[in-house]
Amino acid sequence: MTRFIFITGGVVSSLGKGLSSAALGALLQARGYEVRLRKLDPYLNVDPGTMSPYQHGEVYVTDDGAETDLDLGHYERYTGVPARRSDNVTTGRIYSNVIAKERRGDYLGGTVQVIPHVTDAIKDFVLSDLDNEDFVLCEIGGTVGDIEGLPFLEAIRQLRNELGAERTLFIHLTLVPYIPSAGELKTKPTQHSAKELLNIGIQADMLLCRCDREIPPDARKKIALFCNVRDSRVIPALDVDTIYQVPISYHEQGFDTEVLRYFGMMEEDTEDDIDLGRWNEVVHRIRAPEGEVNIAVVGKYTNLLDAYKSLGEALHHGGIANNVRVNLNWLESEIFEREDAINYLEGCHGILVPGGFGHRGAEGKIKAARFARERQVPYFGICFGMQMAVIEAARNLAGIEGAGSTEFGPCDEPIVGLLTEWTRGNVVERRSANDDFGGTMRLGAYPCSLTPGSRVAAIYGDKLDIGERHRHRYEVNINFKDRLEQHGVRFSGMSPDGELPEIVEIPDHPWFVGVQFHPELKSKPFEPHPLFRSFIKAAMEQSRLV
Ligand code: GLN
Repeated sequence: MTRFIFITGGVVSSLGKGLSSAALGALLQARGYEVRLRKLDPYLNVDPGTMSPYQHGEVYVTDDGAETDLDLGHYERYTGVPARRSDNVTTGRIYSNVIAKERRGDYLGGTVQVIPHVTDAIKDFVLSDLDNEDFVLCEIGGTVGDIEGLPFLEAIRQLRNELGAERTLFIHLTLVPYIPSAGELKTKPTQHSAKELLNIGIQADMLLCRCDREIPPDARKKIALFCNVRDSRVIPALDVDTIYQVPISYHEQGFDTEVLRYFGMMEEDTEDDIDLGRWNEVVHRIRAPEGEVNIAVVGKYTNLLDAYKSLGEALHHGGIANNVRVNLNWLESEIFEREDAINYLEGCHGILVPGGFGHRGAEGKIKAARFARERQVPYFGICFGMQMAVIEAARNLAGIEGAGSTEFGPCDEPIVGLLTEWTRGNVVERRSANDDFGGTMRLGAYPCSLTPGSRVAAIYGDKLDIGERHRHRYEVNINFKDRLEQHGVRFSGMSPDGELPEIVEIPDHPWFVGVQFHPELKSKPFEPHPLFRSFIKAAMEQSRLV
């Protein structure tokens, strides 16, 4: 029997609902249960794929090619359960499905309304594509009180009625602020938020209270009393030094125990049967590193680190794998378009150019790649970072002066060009310059064949067939392969049909790898991605040289 846990948020946004959901998922999993995590997003975009990273942060891509909310990245990093297209939906998608049905005549004769048609579509989504998991954790985006969130809250209210309290649990995440002038923690915002939820017909069963310090028993009692929940179900969620401590701290506060007791799955006096070994090990390695490396990340959205969420995490996972602290220096690539700025890279032990879009800052990324290549500093280019490294090599190694990407407009030597045709399984996908923007990139997991004896083959443990997730519209033009190979760039990973360059490397360099895919999406703290493990190892070697 699948049980549904709905997580809502109140008081303010950015309290870490996604992380809390992921951490609870990890705890239930550590107790041997099968979990699935989902997110319902109230905004009107059909998916976050066309949103600016400044608006939305990273777009997380699933194996099955969906562009989703970055919280799905947390879910996957904490539980290892691969997210699917059916794990994230927005108001935009729900409405477009309902309207498409209306046009088809599915509701013929009826007036189409938010209740029941939209709420039915939301409920169908929540209940669809499940594999009899023990728990489905379903996070509702936004904050209680937002107009656009109402249909989702109404849908989960109805689900409680339909499935019963024994199969549904409402957890509400709030903030308990400390007011310095009063010297007190304040419970009123939590009371108001629980009341707001109640107005919609949802009585929270459990409250998770974010706070920067211990919440004393009398404050917990007060929250319990006013919000109509049991004392033991007011769970403090205190600030911690690393996000991977969150599951451990939640467990110490009795979060997962209370969830199981709620469902009648754990008697009052049962022994605690949970294995948090892997989380303790991860936290231990983060807290007691045996060295440190400095990595420069040369990107475009560096003042909003949510835009590079998985990337930052994957780099830290590389540190966990090697027992070192990874200091990240986020650099805006445009600064490298000024000559002297290259000094910013002096003394770093590795340079990473991440995924990106558009011309702004591209020349700066090309300069950073050149610096790494010429100075023998480990270089990791991801997607756009690979494309820019290839353009750099074409210009400065192969002497192709006009080398560029058609992403930036017409170009004499289109080393990187629009991807117009590729195969997905048995299907040929075709694109043209006039296509819609939304959902039309090469998205999701694709296989890649590695060249035996290459650096990447060794990195992946001599496994020659790998699969990684993609999100790009342009590709390195295969017609330039021979010329580039003659000048020291090896194409060491290709699509199985040999048509699409997936990985390039420079063998005559301590560590220079560019990948067309996004390996950061699959890295986990307890299973660091081999490319990040290897890149950080190379940075450690570099740190001994400088
Ligand atoms: N803008 C490039 C493309 O569309 C790279 C995309 C990316 O880095 N994710 O191909």
